[in-house]
Amino acid sequence: MSQPHVLIIEDEPAQREVLSYNLTAEGYRVSVAADGEQGLLAVQEDTPDMIVLDWMLPHVSGIEICRQLKTRTETRDIPIIMLSARSEEVDKVRGLETGADDYVVKPYTVAELMARVRTQLRRVRPSAVGQMLTFEDIALDGETHRVTRADVELKLGPTEFRLLANFMENPGRVWSRELLLDRVWGRDNYVDTRTVDVHIGRLRKVLTSKGGTDPVRTVRGAGYALG
Ligand code: CA
Repeated sequence: MSQPHVLIIEDEPAQREVLSYNLTAEGYRVSVAADGEQGLLAVQEDTPDMIVLDWMLPHVSGIEICRQLKTRTETRDIPIIMLSARSEEVDKVRGLETGADDYVVKPYTVAELMARVRTQLRRVRPSAVGQMLTFEDIALDGETHRVTRADVELKLGPTEFRLLANFMENPGRVWSRELLLDRVWGRDNYVDTRTVDVHIGRLRKVLTSKGGTDPVRTVRGAGYALG
């Protein structure tokens, strides 16, 4: 699985630095934006798995960004942790009403924030944070990278493993070849979309090698889906 991608939207350079340093140390891919406008652009250009969003930002406030992202279909499922210097209950309620998934009051400890980040990522990128995933009789262990079908261990190459993990995190979702390239090969890949077909073929071969039907569905003109 490609590393979980966390976007930090925070205008204070020192705060941004600390967050970026610690999230990188956790093994995440980190991108940063220094204000709301940059933040919204960053989401559009390179959609993150989750966002750490400061409340008080110049130009477009954190609340406004949160509201915008949570009303758009393409971005509303991205978890947002809102950071705020104000601890009043009313702020908390307002923060949650805008759709923020969690809320952390400054000053916070790094350990606390990392735990909250992990909780959010567990929902959207379970295999990347070491969770066990299952789909029908297939099980994938994000920690040990073992894959079994009907309790029989299967040997997958690293690319096939990441493909399967991506599918299992989103059963039924149809993935275009371009999106799979972004998610599985990474954004800076120079790989042809036909490569995706080759690895899908290999994945299917392994998944059906010990019996069972092919769980990967070809969606004509659209891409691939699991189930
Ligand atoms: Ca700020």
